[in-house]
Amino acid sequence: MFAFFMPGPIELIIMMLVPAAALAVVVLVVALTRSRKASDDNPNLTPCPDCGRFVSLHATTCPQCGRPLQTQP
Ligand SMILES: [Zn+2]
Repeated sequence: MFAFFMPGPIELIIMMLVPAAALAVVVLVVALTRSRKASDDNPNLTPCPDCGRFVSLHATTCPQCGRPLQTQP
């Protein structure tokens, strides 16, 4: 009769998967928000046409590849 109260393998797997799934969701949300902030939350930055590095709109040349940048009016 005591075996009726013991958790089976399915219950053990669920108990291990639920926290792992929750942690995976948190990591995904954090990664998505960080990747968006890199480009969208910096209105003073523009990607370099050559190397893709985010450069200030006031910069005349790209600090990474040295490409001359056209300043927007
Ligand atoms: Zn560049």
